[in-house]
Amino acid sequence: MPAQDFARAEQLGFEQCARAMQQLLRNAPPGWAFVLLVAWEPIGPRPLLIWLAAAAVLWLLCQLQLHRILARGAQRERDANALALAAVLDGASWGLCAWAVAGHSPVLDAWLIILMCGVGAISATAYLTHLRAYAWQLGAYWLPLAASTAWQGAPAWQLTAGSLLFYVLLFWLMRPVSARLIEGLRLQIDNERMAQQLRENLERKAHEAATDALTGLANRRSLDQLLDAWLQRPPTQEGLAVLMLDIDHFKAVNDRHGHGVGDATLKTFAERVRAQLRSSDQCARYGGEEFCVLLPGATHEKALEIAERLRAAVASQPLLSEPLVDNTVSVGLAWMAEGDDAATLLQRADAALYEAKRSGRNRVVAA
Ligand code: GH3
Ligand code: MG
Ligand code: MG
Repeated sequence: MPAQDFARAEQLGFEQCARAMQQLLRNAPPGWAFVLLVAWEPIGPRPLLIWLAAAAVLWLLCQLQLHRILARGAQRERDANALALAAVLDGASWGLCAWAVAGHSPVLDAWLIILMCGVGAISATAYLTHLRAYAWQLGAYWLPLAASTAWQGAPAWQLTAGSLLFYVLLFWLMRPVSARLIEGLRLQIDNERMAQQLRENLERKAHEAATDALTGLANRRSLDQLLDAWLQRPPTQEGLAVLMLDIDHFKAVNDRHGHGVGDATLKTFAERVRAQLRSSDQCARYGGEEFCVLLPGATHEKALEIAERLRAAVASQPLLSEPLVDNTVSVGLAWMAEGDDAATLLQRADAALYEAKRSGRNRVVAA
């Protein structure tokens, strides 16, 4: 949404402007010191101290106003006028300086024009991302000078006209710079959104790659990874029991009721098995109607007890009631032994499962 992004970029620019104004205000006291230094001799303390007091009050009010705006989140729509007021306070504190200093001597006027150009240009760095406030600042800076010129019978009209020209030019030149900055912010927002989308896509794909779509259990690939990770642990770690489960006579379910019912049966089966396990146990669909359960830290007795519990949970209640599907499950159990790799461990569990099938199904056989 480019239009939306543009609004967000302008909002971001607004916030940055308010923060940068806060930073900018820190430069004011050295500026005041400069004015006192060059104007003390020719003007005398009285007008300077009056200006300094007024500037300090405006400066403080500006600080407070910025603090208030930032504290409530600096929303461009709501706070644009509040920020314009802060800009006026900022500009007026320097405008009063021009009022106090202008028209006393040509040398002082030269200093003043340097100061006015300097402050105007330095301020641009803060106001660049929200030029409207800049216009208010420059206006409030220039107007007292214009008023004083009118008041004093235009002793410094060149100063007034020159600074007006400079400010208009400065503002005009800053417009494309500001537009480029806002465009940069827009691109930044765009990039962040794309990066977020990429992250989400990656997470989803990683989840899909590790999950069986029908049952939502871990799939064969992530089972292999889990087993490998487990087998690479130091041998002093707790043991691991592996259960291989295979639904009995499952082909008949498909043959009798169709694949849809077969699929529903597999889902219910997966849910029922999962419900019997702790969250630290892992359950994966090994393939077709075969499932594999990893029981970390289970003793021999505990693993046998869990395997039996799983078998009973399937046998005690039909998997589906409409149509009736009451298949049982056979379970082969193996324990991790020293020197095992994933394949040999699974082979032993598979051999035990084969034995369970051979000896009549609906039973648990340990390797
Ligand atoms: P046994 O007791 O010896 O295990 O007999 P069985 O019928 O369960 O074993 P067999 O291996 O002959 O059949 C497994 C069936 O599982 C065959 C296949 O159609 C079915 N099957 C495998 N995957 C799916 C699946 O995703 N959905 C459905 N509906 N059926 C599946
Ligand atoms: Mg099978
Ligand atoms: Mg089977």
